[in-house]
Amino acid sequence: MPATLEKTASTLPDVPALINGKWISPPTTKFGDVFNPSTGKAIARVPLASADFTNSAIEAAAAAWPAWAETPAVERARLMFKYREVLLANFEKLAALVTKEHGKTMVEARASIQRGIEVVEYACAIPNMLMGDCLQNLARSVDAETNRHPIGVCVGITPFNFPAMVPMWMFPIALVCGNTFVLKPSEKVPLSVNLLGELLIEAGCPEGVFNIVHGDKTSVDALLTHPKVKAVSFVGSTQIARYIYETGTKHGKRVQAAGGAKNHLIIMPDADLDQAVAALQASAYGCAGERCMAGSVCVPVGGVADLLVEKLVDKASKMTVGPTDTGAAVDMGPLISGPHRDRVASYLQIGADEGAKLALDGRKGVPAEGFFVKPSVIDHVKPTMRVATEEIFGPVLSVIRVGALEEALEVGRRSPLGNGASIFTQSGWAARQFKRHFSAGMIGINIGVPAPMAWFSFTGWDESFFGDLHIQGIEGVHFYTQQKTTMTRWFERASDAAFDPVWRQK
Ligand code: NAD
Repeated sequence: MPATLEKTASTLPDVPALINGKWISPPTTKFGDVFNPSTGKAIARVPLASADFTNSAIEAAAAAWPAWAETPAVERARLMFKYREVLLANFEKLAALVTKEHGKTMVEARASIQRGIEVVEYACAIPNMLMGDCLQNLARSVDAETNRHPIGVCVGITPFNFPAMVPMWMFPIALVCGNTFVLKPSEKVPLSVNLLGELLIEAGCPEGVFNIVHGDKTSVDALLTHPKVKAVSFVGSTQIARYIYETGTKHGKRVQAAGGAKNHLIIMPDADLDQAVAALQASAYGCAGERCMAGSVCVPVGGVADLLVEKLVDKASKMTVGPTDTGAAVDMGPLISGPHRDRVASYLQIGADEGAKLALDGRKGVPAEGFFVKPSVIDHVKPTMRVATEEIFGPVLSVIRVGALEEALEVGRRSPLGNGASIFTQSGWAARQFKRHFSAGMIGINIGVPAPMAWFSFTGWDESFFGDLHIQGIEGVHFYTQQKTTMTRWFERASDAAFDPVWRQK
């Protein structure tokens, strides 16, 4: 059921919001359904928050801020040490919930939780990261120092594709920096985030420091315009990222907004083909292609294309695709929803209509229930075709054959989405050329998914990112803090003679 339709009665459990440490069902007549994509059946319904209800979450976070900001950084870090323990104790429960509401395989879900926990581990080191600089005697009798201060209420607005991991890119760092937080997860996957909230409370998070509202544009607009919100972190599609950036900054907030992607995988003629094919397969079809770092366009250089496509089609066609929540091992699960499945499948027709060749058509032989498209390969794609330029966000790999590395670099330059790109080669020179000149923010060399881990930022370029300081890593700490510089001069008084320094007495 579309999220905007009204519903009066439901046998499905409602998904509560978390405000000021309490789980609350917001007063609303607007609901969205949460599906198990493996079965195509609704498993919960999510009340979509009004602007007033969203504002109440912001007010709770604002009220909790002064005490939390005064809590020593060492104590804030201890909350994260405890949170890590609680997360590890609930690791399988969390992974199973991600699988249930998103459709990832358990292997993929576990890996995503692990990546999220690494951000918590990173946040444990906050006392070191908040240390400022100082220079004594910058001018005569003048000392200078900088310190990082929290900024207040921070907001996270997150996409469906990593229900736990992407929210965890944000709030652990924001909280240890001394801010309070309101998280608005994707209304398609609200369950994992609620478990993250439960576990944070179990770890000892004070009331109001971390809040969750579930909602759609109405709730997002309240977050973007409320005067007490100081910073907005967003991850999602480019269209919405641009909107969030423009609206948030217009209302005086600092904004970091990560958008969509069209990632290129360049295969040089000297690449180890079996290694490259295995990496391509994992990159394009892992998480059913619903990753912002998923390989979407394969660019074989020189005479490598025929054998590469043959090997890739062979491997991809043997992948087992099916429900991920039954305990049976499968290589790939479903897409998030029926409409998204139909959209992804439509690109196979679009590619064929544009004159490309369907080397592997994933519309055939899909499970009867659930939201499935199987691994697909579109060969002989031209750089101007829609399947080469638009984000498909499913298990569809477009192949653009080129003659030389320079042509591959040109394909990258034409793409408005500069998120990630990888090269497969045994040549240091080709790797270096690619690293320096491919137009994307995250580069892989013989790595299919060059997604940075917690200690490094997610550095998308062009229309894959709007803002300045990126998410995660030290830029995350800088985004969630503001600097204060203090210049100090103490004038000597007559009575200070008693404290004369030793050097002057000599
Ligand atoms: P989305 O843009 O549809 O939704 C993201 C968030 O924005 C959700 O919380 C949603 O409720 C909200 N939203 C949706 N429409 C809105 C509107 N009109 N006004 C205000 N808020 C709105 O994205 P999605 O489909 O959930 O996620 C997939 C997208 O996320 C892909 O484009 C993918 O590339 C991108 N993504 C990017 C990164 C990255 O690091 N660059 C990481 C993960 C996902």
